[in-house]
Amino acid sequence: MNRRRNIIGGAHSNPPARAPALAGSCMNAAAIVRLTAVLTLAALPATAGAPFNFEQAPGRLPKNVAPLAYRISVTPDLEARTIAGSESVTLRVTAATAIIVFNSLNEKLSDVRLDGTPASAVVSDDGQQLSTVTLAQPAAPGEHTLSFTYTARLETQPHGMFLQPYLRSDGARGTLVSTKMESTDARRMFPCWDEPAFRATFELTVTVPAAWATVSNMPVAGRELHGQLATTTFQRSPPMPSYLIEFTGGDLAAISAQTGGTALSLWAVRGREHEGQVALADAQLILADYNEYFGYSYPLPKLDSIAVPGGFSGAMENWGAITYNDKLLLLNSDSTVADRQTVFAVQAHEIAHQWNGDLVTMGWWDDLWLNESFASWRAADETEQRNPSWKWWQRQDGAKERAMRSDARLSTHPIQQPVADELQAANAFDEITYQKGQAVLRMLESYLGPDLFRDGIRRYLRARAFSNATAADLWLALAQASGRDDVVQVARDWTEQPGFPLVSVAADCGGSGARTVTLAQQRFLLQGAAQDAARWRIPLRIRVGRATAHAELLTHDGQKEAAGRCDEPLSVNADAIGFFRVKYDAATLAANNRAFATLPDGDRIALLDDAWALALAGEQSLSSYLAFAAAMGSNHNSRAWEQIAAALGALERDERGSPGHAAFTARARALVKPMADSLGWDVRPGETSDVQRLRRTLRSDLGAWDDPQTLAEARRRFSRFVADRSAIRPDDQESVLGAVAQAADAATFEKLQTIARGEKDEAAQRRYYLALMQVGDASLAERAVQAALSPDIPPQAADLRLHLIAQLADRHPTLAWRAFTANADLLLAPYPKYAPLITSQDIPEVFWDALEPQQLEAWVRARLPAEMSANIARGMEAVAVRRAERQALVPAVDAWVAQVR
Ligand SMILES: [Zn+2]
Repeated sequence: MNRRRNIIGGAHSNPPARAPALAGSCMNAAAIVRLTAVLTLAALPATAGAPFNFEQAPGRLPKNVAPLAYRISVTPDLEARTIAGSESVTLRVTAATAIIVFNSLNEKLSDVRLDGTPASAVVSDDGQQLSTVTLAQPAAPGEHTLSFTYTARLETQPHGMFLQPYLRSDGARGTLVSTKMESTDARRMFPCWDEPAFRATFELTVTVPAAWATVSNMPVAGRELHGQLATTTFQRSPPMPSYLIEFTGGDLAAISAQTGGTALSLWAVRGREHEGQVALADAQLILADYNEYFGYSYPLPKLDSIAVPGGFSGAMENWGAITYNDKLLLLNSDSTVADRQTVFAVQAHEIAHQWNGDLVTMGWWDDLWLNESFASWRAADETEQRNPSWKWWQRQDGAKERAMRSDARLSTHPIQQPVADELQAANAFDEITYQKGQAVLRMLESYLGPDLFRDGIRRYLRARAFSNATAADLWLALAQASGRDDVVQVARDWTEQPGFPLVSVAADCGGSGARTVTLAQQRFLLQGAAQDAARWRIPLRIRVGRATAHAELLTHDGQKEAAGRCDEPLSVNADAIGFFRVKYDAATLAANNRAFATLPDGDRIALLDDAWALALAGEQSLSSYLAFAAAMGSNHNSRAWEQIAAALGALERDERGSPGHAAFTARARALVKPMADSLGWDVRPGETSDVQRLRRTLRSDLGAWDDPQTLAEARRRFSRFVADRSAIRPDDQESVLGAVAQAADAATFEKLQTIARGEKDEAAQRRYYLALMQVGDASLAERAVQAALSPDIPPQAADLRLHLIAQLADRHPTLAWRAFTANADLLLAPYPKYAPLITSQDIPEVFWDALEPQQLEAWVRARLPAEMSANIARGMEAVAVRRAERQALVPAVDAWVAQVR
């Protein structure tokens, strides 16, 4: 699954200051909170360190009865919103049993039989999400067949099998049926052993309107018409976990292609399939690359990509039938370069899951990171290699920094964390699982070298194909492929411990000028002190000047390394690959500053990231960071500038309402204006997307910092745009319209709102509404709230509302908080699975200064069960850190402004 969309504006971490972290993704599924509150069965302890073993795998279901083969037939009733089903499951019983236990939710089972003999009782407990069948006589070890009929709900939220209404381009209403199972929602569509270790084959039969196209994991085996309805049976799947089952039916059409022996199709609502041409071409390329990289050909006969309108806001890697929110797959003339990049990167992620996740599945949700980090890392690498001008790994640095910010709190958790129940499984979809995991895998790849790392991956996939795995299986394969036993210990240091280290570098210059550095480590925290003395084996990459970097493992404090000459720049985190911070001594810092504009991009980025984080943590002065920012000169690296823009944006936010605000924004403008002016406003021939992005980042900032020339030009462009929607390129709309809204009067606000309301293209409409939320005027902000809540937002864009209110919180925190709390149910409804995680962690980060922390915490606690305490602690620590930073930064900023005046 693609990462859950973060609703937080980038404000304080590192993404572009005003890009409204409209982020991400795969939100979905169950209203689990109340259900799990009553769960009593404890999961087995997490098996960190042990290879996969079915009997030992954690989980709630007994292992003595396991499914081998399902035959499932369902008929959804679109009017009654119910499903009529029948099911037959071949079971393997390993220890005689009088009861059979499996998952079900909101289902009623009838005519339950084992090998044809009626069961003596069946009890379905929706609190436990379990059904228990009591047999007429105990089942002996061996194979048996369990059969029953049942009814289930056809859901209206995107979990289980659900109805998805949408607006067609002609304005008429359409409806389709799709599914979304991860983590624990297959049980809503059919009773099953709904844990990832229970792999079985599936043969699915579905009866829907005969006019509909139907897609599932496997190709169609047969189809029968009965009047207005048609029954489609799909071929039997290979053994797979239940969370990967897929079915979509509706008025769909496809475009098709072929890669090797695999048939590729892209499905969309009829009439829009041609918007998938780019995505289909990407999929062909990616599939061919992965066949080669993994050394294991894609194992299913076909791979479908399905563009689902609205519904869940991410993508799901169902084996052979990947579902995407349509905005992640379809492109048209209103699409931006960022949209186009997302289409490639998200497909690269989901297609990587076809091997890691689907062919080999984590044994239990405590190793969810193994699926997600792996897919994220593989996707980033694939995206970088196929599109070098996008500088994709540099783009990923912003996401890594967000994860490091979360991980620099005492309340963080290890990548690998115990998962006892459905709620904890849903809560595992966070930035530690995705972004830290991705960064740690990249660090390990760099440590072993790409060839040995790939050999280890190939060995791992061959060893565990059509089965499950734990992290230990992966480490073992990497150790075997590389002949390096220490890889297991290095990997475990980073996946089983929370947090990450700060490496201190102290240079010693002998009489000859030759430099020796002494290295040490401690845990890095933004605030507070850790009780434990955590230690990591740290893969360093040391570079002197612009020379080739070399690898060293930091194993003990006081370790010494030769590092060129004292007047040369030095990085021990070359190319910013490591997931750690570095604090250099003053002399090395000065040498780095002197050479700053000519360093390799990654080294410069790492220096900026570290200097900013150290300033936030009070480990180094803010002026050291600002000295780096001032040393950028005419360097065009967009990630470095984006980092600076975000940091200055955070400082500007902190200065609001203080006497130093005007002086600071003048200084901030002066820092970025020469570069912005050299880039101008319009795209130049031959320019890379990276440079265009840089221009937009700087223009957004200058607008946000009230630069009169920028605002005047933005208004001029907007007046042309009102008459001619092509007057501002889609890519530039966010920055230009944001500046316009910020300085808007009532008439301008109204014009922009009218445009947003009338827009047919959903992606464009989202941009316009998000721009509207940047409104500066307080009375117009009230109208922005009404716009965000109004029925003008189409049904398939219901998830947008929460993003809009979060965006509004940047300039109008108190108003946005009132709007959020008064409408929390409406705003969170599109995120049934992630509502607890959003409420506990994202909401405090968005509203950190809207009200007193105690009141904020009280509100959050009142909405969540006690089991969410650890998550609430994370959210509230983020608030405390942010407030303390503001308190410390404002005087430091004022001092800097006074000093450079
Ligand atoms: Zn994923």
